[in-house]
Amino acid sequence: MTTLIISLKFLKKLFFFAGDKDVEVCGVLIGKKIDKKKFKITNIVYDDNPIDPTSFGVTRNTENVYIYVKEIVENSYEDVDYIGEWHSHLFGKCDFSSLDVESIRYIMEDQDYQKPNYLILLIIKFPSQSSAFLFEKKQKFITEMVLKIED
Ligand SMILES: [Zn+2]
Repeated sequence: MTTLIISLKFLKKLFFFAGDKDVEVCGVLIGKKIDKKKFKITNIVYDDNPIDPTSFGVTRNTENVYIYVKEIVENSYEDVDYIGEWHSHLFGKCDFSSLDVESIRYIMEDQDYQKPNYLILLIIKFPSQSSAFLFEKKQKFITEMVLKIED
């Protein structure tokens, strides 16, 4: 069982961002790997200026979120970093699409992101559904994560 720890505060924040909007919303996850099967989100970044948000997709604005990410990572007393992506779905299942997989794999090969060994994808569906997946460099398969909500 691979676990993703998230605070209730952050989860509520994500659902707040998604709200009852008619377009997808997105952002990035800051956190750390605790051990092989345990990951923790320590910050949520909301992309307040995404590219082409529609009800079927959204492209995250890297330049916009980068400033927020840098500030959080530099000012954190913990050893945290960019660990993944989050976005909302309006229709269908609270599950990754083929485009989602493509985007994650693309980032993992991107030199600008220093080719991370793993990335987490968190998908939320307003008002209360959420799911998380772990993508690893050396694994072809995608691991579904168990979300552990903490106070
Ligand atoms: Zn998606």
